[in-house]
Amino acid sequence: MYMMVRVAIVAVAMVAMSVDALAGKIKGAEAGVLRLDYVFAGSAGEKPVVALKRVVSQPDRHVDLTGRVRQLPLDGNGRVSVVDPVSLDTLYRQSFSSLFHEWMQTGDSTWRAYEHSMIIPVPEREVKVCLELTNERRRVMARHEARVNPEDILTRPVRNPGYDTVWINRATYPGRHIGVAILAEGYTRGEMAHFERRARETVEALFAHEPFSTYADRFDIVAVKTPSDSSGVSVPRDGKWRETAFGSHFSTFYSDRYLTTPNVFAIHDAMGGVPAEHIIILANEETYGGGGIFNSYTLTAADNKYFEPVVVHEFGHSFGGLGDEYFYENDVMSDSYPLDVEPWEPNITTLVDFDSKWADMMDETTPVPTPRAAKGEITPSVGVYEGGGYSTHGVYRPADYCRMRVNDIDHFCPVCRRAIERLILYYTE
Ligand SMILES: [Zn+2]
Repeated sequence: MYMMVRVAIVAVAMVAMSVDALAGKIKGAEAGVLRLDYVFAGSAGEKPVVALKRVVSQPDRHVDLTGRVRQLPLDGNGRVSVVDPVSLDTLYRQSFSSLFHEWMQTGDSTWRAYEHSMIIPVPEREVKVCLELTNERRRVMARHEARVNPEDILTRPVRNPGYDTVWINRATYPGRHIGVAILAEGYTRGEMAHFERRARETVEALFAHEPFSTYADRFDIVAVKTPSDSSGVSVPRDGKWRETAFGSHFSTFYSDRYLTTPNVFAIHDAMGGVPAEHIIILANEETYGGGGIFNSYTLTAADNKYFEPVVVHEFGHSFGGLGDEYFYENDVMSDSYPLDVEPWEPNITTLVDFDSKWADMMDETTPVPTPRAAKGEITPSVGVYEGGGYSTHGVYRPADYCRMRVNDIDHFCPVCRRAIERLILYYTE
């Protein structure tokens, strides 16, 4: 009896030691987060510049960022890592994308600057924070390194701004949780009941999709009633400009339905008291559109009839790092993805390195590329269909129909489901 207890104590001590090795270097969710506000500047064809505008602390933003030391599931268009300068241990990693990357692809030679915020766990002592941006060929195009000291007297605490919040889903999973904030954009103080209804619809739509439904107990989702002076958001092509919480507008890069905001720092300031990392912004707007940027934010018009499929699609981008599986028939070839480079997005391929994608999910008898089924025929659940990532030729998608391609179906394809599941497991186990 005595021996058994003793063995049990030894086993517990060993587990505790491996957690302690990291716990001694970064603090847990109760300490809040540090936030690095960067500016990315550049123009098409020129080497961009990354500058650190400021480091702030958000002591009331209780997000669990521990455990992110393994290889990231997705490369994204940029990565940040927190390194112990003495032991060179990596204490935290995250990958991301940014509206800036899309600006670099517009072909415009004007130099422009974009905001980007990264949150990191609060370190016990000074750390090195390394940020890299990669180009469409997946080569590093800019690097930035900063020493960040948690005792720095110039690190300003950004406190909870005190907006009303409503819990939409509470995680019950015993491991780590994923925090999602739903923010209001273009809702006046008198319209918050309407916003809350849309926030609940968002979560219902998300949890109607696998794999989110299976893992619903790992998501903490909170709606934040961030008020705007105007009702609705800016629609530049109609000459409508409105004063809203995050200054979002349609016609990003002159694309009518592309709704984004340049005010990333403002979004993060609004999240001072919110235990969340992932961000969904609902725009009080009927005009069709939205946008989703990997580990940056989702922004969707919430009063359009396609709102539910669109918000889930955009969250597929911002949470899942998924690429668009649609393309434009009869369109001139788009060069978003160079055809001699395997894109990092898990659900599209140029076949340059298909083994790194969904080759293991293919039935041996399915031809590559897979012909589209004629009317009435049944297609294999996973194939390699030409057309995806905005290109008719040379980029391939895993399924004929998926949430990442069309609004009129109700699911993610098996490849997208697996990609999302991998991220959920990475964050929570
Ligand atoms: Zn898919």
